[in-house]
Amino acid sequence: CGIVGVTGKDSAVQILLKGLKRLEYRGYDSAGIYVNDQDGHEYLVKEKGRIADLEAEIGSDVHGSTGIGHTRWATHGIPSKANAHPHVSDDGRYYLVHNGMIGNFAELKKQYLSDVTFKSDTDTEVIVQLIAKFAQTGLATKSAFKKVLSLIDDSSSYSFLLIDNQEPNTLYVAKNKSPLLIGVGDGFNVVCSDAIAMLDQTHDFIELVDGETVVVKPDSILIEDVAGNKIDRKPFHVSTDA
Ligand code: GLU
Repeated sequence: CGIVGVTGKDSAVQILLKGLKRLEYRGYDSAGIYVNDQDGHEYLVKEKGRIADLEAEIGSDVHGSTGIGHTRWATHGIPSKANAHPHVSDDGRYYLVHNGMIGNFAELKKQYLSDVTFKSDTDTEVIVQLIAKFAQTGLATKSAFKKVLSLIDDSSSYSFLLIDNQEPNTLYVAKNKSPLLIGVGDGFNVVCSDAIAMLDQTHDFIELVDGETVVVKPDSILIEDVAGNKIDRKPFHVSTDA
């Protein structure tokens, strides 16, 4: 029900937690974060219940400069720790948060992933396992991500934030019928489903159009349409003085 992401800030854990707290008003049943530093350390923490319950699970060693966070409103699979996001691929390479629902997840699972052991009952895990599967055939992450997006049927809705731990400072972003914004920073960038989550970090946000994919790094934001054309879009400014 809420999504946050950040790349290029040493206090990623605090930024994600603060963002998730700002999204609490939307309601949710569980929450989780994934963060990494750029030194090969990565952490996945999730919990059923409140953000405070998640926070209590986060040890003092958990740190990083890039990460993603999620509050879940279950559509497929009961509210539980195993079904909370982020979801991780079997090979441990990809981490994904998702708002919305995938209409044809059962068909995708059956067609492509009969050999994969699933850790959750969510539609979301099918997507992260499928990205890993296509990457294993030699596709670069952006291509694997786009290929999976092209297989998702029209009844579906999503905003996705994906991390490939082989490119630990990069956020892969896409949306369809679910809200998602890129927040523009100086030497860092953020992603959120609602600007309110990130107003402490920036007041400048770029709106995304359904079908676009975005590659976000600390000092760059690359937006592409479905055909792969580069899109230039100016951020809008959110004023909090009014
Ligand atoms: N369909 C996903 C799930 O049930 C995401 C739900 C949400 O938007 O939070 O895990």
